[in-house]
Amino acid sequence: MEIVSTASSNRFKEKMKEIIETLNSSRRIFVTTHVNPDGDAIGSLVAMGLALFAAGKKVVMYNESTIPTLYRFLSGVDRVTHDPEAIDGCDTAVIIDCGDLHRMGRMAVEMEDFPILINIDHHATNSGFGHYRLIDPKACASAEIVYRIIEELGVSITTSIATALYTGILTDTGSFRFANTSRETFALCEMLVAAGANPSDVARHLYGQYSIGRLKLLNMALDSIEISRNGKLSLMALTQEMLAETGTVPEDIDGMINYARRIENIDVAVLIRENRNGNHLAGNHRPFHVSLRSNGIVDVAAVATTYGGGGHPTAAGFQVEAATLNDIKDRIWALADTL
Ligand code: AMP
Ligand code: MN
Ligand code: MN
Repeated sequence: MEIVSTASSNRFKEKMKEIIETLNSSRRIFVTTHVNPDGDAIGSLVAMGLALFAAGKKVVMYNESTIPTLYRFLSGVDRVTHDPEAIDGCDTAVIIDCGDLHRMGRMAVEMEDFPILINIDHHATNSGFGHYRLIDPKACASAEIVYRIIEELGVSITTSIATALYTGILTDTGSFRFANTSRETFALCEMLVAAGANPSDVARHLYGQYSIGRLKLLNMALDSIEISRNGKLSLMALTQEMLAETGTVPEDIDGMINYARRIENIDVAVLIRENRNGNHLAGNHRPFHVSLRSNGIVDVAAVATTYGGGGHPTAAGFQVEAATLNDIKDRIWALADTL
């Protein structure tokens, strides 16, 4: 699978041209992102949707999951539907920030014989699905690639679009702290701020307030930390019981893994989260999501890929089923021994 390396390359420009032509000749466009969306997924979805509306297209913005409360301040987010039937009559699908098709959820099956699929992403582990692809692992966020598409579409960047894109970049760069933050990131943000994105407003919405339940959950997450024998791996675990006890939802867990990552001498941090709805699973198996973070030495995307997941070299994840939390912990301790 070909991964386009930088936005300035000729190959990127060629692929961009194909995608712009395809979008221009589409009648009704289905735009979607991954389940349990993060700021980049929501920001890219909203910005792409609003820009296509502005270009005079009929657009359906879809996400399987409910929009996390944190991102509901974005204007245009109320246009996102969760109704799978909204795809009826669409001739083109734009799938953003999904390393593989299944990340979009149940609708992935519908996509198998869909007329035109456009894959827009920045994960180096992208499976290369779709008829057209714009995958740039050097982009700090999918929002960066969406910005370039909007520019090429000739649509002006409104305050709503700028705010959505800025939100995607801010969250995927860990507020400009991660290694994907570059000169281009700031150049892009300079343009977005000029177009109306307000950094202090966005930061206040994203980081300004915590519910008391979230703080109590953080307390439990910190309390759950264990360190591997060799001192290189830290492990946090959160169960459905903990969410119920604190009255929190999965989105409240976002960012907690960073505490485990910051522990001195740690190379890899792991957060195991028990998911809901294990009823369909064989035996007494339960579903879990495992998040991995690296301080730069270990490529956790490679680790996640061996478990059927994916991500970036320093931030990756995968889904796994097991009878008990301890079964997964044992696998993580075995992984720690290899570090
Ligand atoms: P998370 O594990 O949710 O903290 O996500 C960290 C990174 O890994 C993100 O870039 C995700 O896109 C990616 N990721 C998480 N889970 C999966 C999965 N099941 N398959 C592929 N990529 C994933
Ligand atoms: Mn994402
Ligand atoms: Mn992303």
